[in-house]
Amino acid sequence: MSNLTQEINRRRTFAIISHPDAGKTTLTEKFLLYGGAINLAGSVKGKATARHAVSDWMEIEKERGISVTSSVLQFEYDGYCINILDTPGHQDFSEDTYRTLMAADSAVMVIDGSKGVEAQTRKLFKVCVMRKIPIFTFINKMDRDANDTFDLLDEIEKELGIATCPKNWPIGSGKGFKGIYDRDKSCVIIYSDTEKGTREGETLEIPMEDEERLLEYIGQEALDKLKEEIELLDGASAEFDLEEVRRGDLTPVFFGSALTNFGVEIFLQHFLQMTTTPLPRKSDVGVVEPVENNFSAFVFKIQANMNKAHRDRIAFMRICSGKFEASMEVKHVQGGKIMRLSQPQQIMASERKILDEAYAGDIIGVFDPGVFSIGDTLCMPKEEFAYEGIPTFAPEHFARVRQVDTMKRKQFVKGITQIAQEGAIQIFQEYNTGMEEIIVGVVGVLQFDVLKYRLNNEYNVEIRLEPLPYEYIRWIENKDEFDLDKLTGTSDMKKVKDMKGNPLLLFVNEWSVGMTIDRNKGLILTEFGRN
Ligand code: GDP
Repeated sequence: MSNLTQEINRRRTFAIISHPDAGKTTLTEKFLLYGGAINLAGSVKGKATARHAVSDWMEIEKERGISVTSSVLQFEYDGYCINILDTPGHQDFSEDTYRTLMAADSAVMVIDGSKGVEAQTRKLFKVCVMRKIPIFTFINKMDRDANDTFDLLDEIEKELGIATCPKNWPIGSGKGFKGIYDRDKSCVIIYSDTEKGTREGETLEIPMEDEERLLEYIGQEALDKLKEEIELLDGASAEFDLEEVRRGDLTPVFFGSALTNFGVEIFLQHFLQMTTTPLPRKSDVGVVEPVENNFSAFVFKIQANMNKAHRDRIAFMRICSGKFEASMEVKHVQGGKIMRLSQPQQIMASERKILDEAYAGDIIGVFDPGVFSIGDTLCMPKEEFAYEGIPTFAPEHFARVRQVDTMKRKQFVKGITQIAQEGAIQIFQEYNTGMEEIIVGVVGVLQFDVLKYRLNNEYNVEIRLEPLPYEYIRWIENKDEFDLDKLTGTSDMKKVKDMKGNPLLLFVNEWSVGMTIDRNKGLILTEFGRN
């Protein structure tokens, strides 16, 4: 096998998704710990100083009180080269979070065992389903009282519409948490709290046949319950089928406790075996295979003003095929230019490191002199093709923007257009009005503050935002066939257009969406637009 093939095939690039507080940061830190990428001694303890040290690396943004960045972490484990795409949760939630998923080949879904499926998980999950990427579930916090295991699995199946296959099974939870039963090996792994240590200690595995020792460690009651549950489970749960996992139809489920380092490494090992090497990607000349092709990449995120003094922009790209070398010339397809990528770097935890080479599966950031847009393709100078665009995700919050000082129209239009190009916000116009009446749509409400702050700070323009009641936006998929003047909507519906002139409809509730579809035969509405 060539070196290139070897390098690409050992790469695993995935995103971690969860609702805030489910334990994503803790789990990520434990992964890094096993990979030896960070030394946790003294770092995990003090929550205030250390908890955000790894993922929230944007010091500048922290000072500004806004964090809109997803970070990328690369580390080595057991011969694998792993790229983790962290998706910001909390109120930072934005389109960036969704776009990050476009760069991943699989997703790890972290669920709090006492809470089950929560809102944010549901949203992110939808994007994974759209892309049909494999999803691996880690049910966390088993050291706390958790919901009934069958109920948890039921909830995932019903709420998210994906079949589940538990690879292991918890024995109790909270104070009564005894460990997990490994279904493949038919043995029990005894729970031990190793929070104080740095790595998961020696795991104690007891085969199911060794009843005497099992009784000693987990007790009669827990053992009886376990046997009963295994029997039920073997009869009821979906058969494990790796093909189904790879298609995104079945999610393997694991249990553990990230905080106490239990079940984490077991999960990591299984996950790495089951998840895919860098996936081929669709382009306008057909599917591009990672190993068989020269360097190519697409831009999935642009981060402006990372360093305010320099007004710099960084374009993050996912390498889809071949090998990247810092010295080589590449073609920016949409811009029609041949160029050298400036200051290619890998952003790792809190540090950025200039790199010489990278392979399909890796994420690199490059200095952007203002030429890249989200979804752009880079390839070798003699080639020419474009990757499928990145969908525009439906904003859920809308506001009308008004300029305070109308004399600064030019700056206002420039600022708001640039910010929209970066993809931090989406802007819409009402029919029959000009740029003075702009409606802004965002995925997470914090983006409104970001917009206000940035317009003021970077463009010297002050704005007022008037919240609008709309929560649902739909693109008209068959806009060329459908006569918009004939549309019969609901009284609360609003017609707007995006910056490219595509018509859109805003609704206050889902009922109105359904009503409008019912009233207009032949109208096709969609939640995702295309760039
Ligand atoms: P994130 O918001 O998903 O990144 O969640 P964090 O990793 O920051 O965790 C949220 C809180 O839950 C923190 O106080 C963690 O210490 C705690 N936590 C994380 N994992 C576990 C776990 O396995 N057990 C318990 N008891 N607490 C946990």
